[in-house]
Amino acid sequence: MSQNKEYEKELKQVMFTDQQQLKTKIISKLRKPSIKYDYNKKRLSIFELDRKFKEENLRCITCSDYFQKFTLTFCGHSFCYLCIFEHLLKSHKCPSCLTTIKGLQFIYCKTIDGFIQSQVVISSQKNNEQYLSRKKDLKVWKAKKKIQTFNIGDLVDILDTEHIWCVGKILNIIQKKKENQILVHYEGWNKVYDECISIQSPRLSSKGLFTNRKDILLYQPSFNQNTMQNYIRQLEHQQTQQTSLLNYLIFQQQNQNQNYIMAIESADRSTLSNLLSLVIYIREMSNDQNS
Ligand SMILES: [Zn+2]
Ligand SMILES: [Zn+2]
Repeated sequence: MSQNKEYEKELKQVMFTDQQQLKTKIISKLRKPSIKYDYNKKRLSIFELDRKFKEENLRCITCSDYFQKFTLTFCGHSFCYLCIFEHLLKSHKCPSCLTTIKGLQFIYCKTIDGFIQSQVVISSQKNNEQYLSRKKDLKVWKAKKKIQTFNIGDLVDILDTEHIWCVGKILNIIQKKKENQILVHYEGWNKVYDECISIQSPRLSSKGLFTNRKDILLYQPSFNQNTMQNYIRQLEHQQTQQTSLLNYLIFQQQNQNQNYIMAIESADRSTLSNLLSLVIYIREMSNDQNS
């Protein structure tokens, strides 16, 4: 009997009057002053890292400003969307590692965009105003590039598989469940290159936005205006400070049952011009003989 009473007494001691009492007891045990100190130190060091990261890694190497629509290339380098887009109009090399980039296959990240915007907002009013004005510029550019209506026979700018902007003609509009497609003919090129492309594709643009520019890579029509089949193309190779140019003479030859393209590379444009006139001369001679 007396032993039972002893137990009861012990039980009462370990029982708490309510849950709150139990919680405070346990938490006070867990939060020893030393642990709290370590925790705060760790927190501070994370913020330190965060500050360094923001300054060094959130800027585009092309414009030195904060990323505007963060865009990742397949070689793993990040730029503002407009910076890499504009750069690829003039060169096909990544500005960071010189890997050849063709097409517009990029990865975007809304989380990083949101993070940058939140950091810029708190950094300074000037930074914030600049960021917002560049955001507006991107919006205006997108609106200019967007094709308002698609009609058969209309001309558009279209980026070909060589990443060169060309003039295209809409031959047909194809209704699709998800998004409509258009059948485009590359003006001046053989119909074997005709292509079906989604109307949402970034490879489409309103006519002239790119093909009217003189400062970007474009196909140069040959001086023989009757045949648009031969082109001299100039490609830019940017290496550090120097800019060297390489020219390509591109022949497109079509027979009844085959179609092929040949490209001759040379640093000397006049050699290619002479070669081109020779080829045209030979073709005209053989045409005369055949007729
Ligand atoms: Zn940039
Ligand atoms: Zn790269």
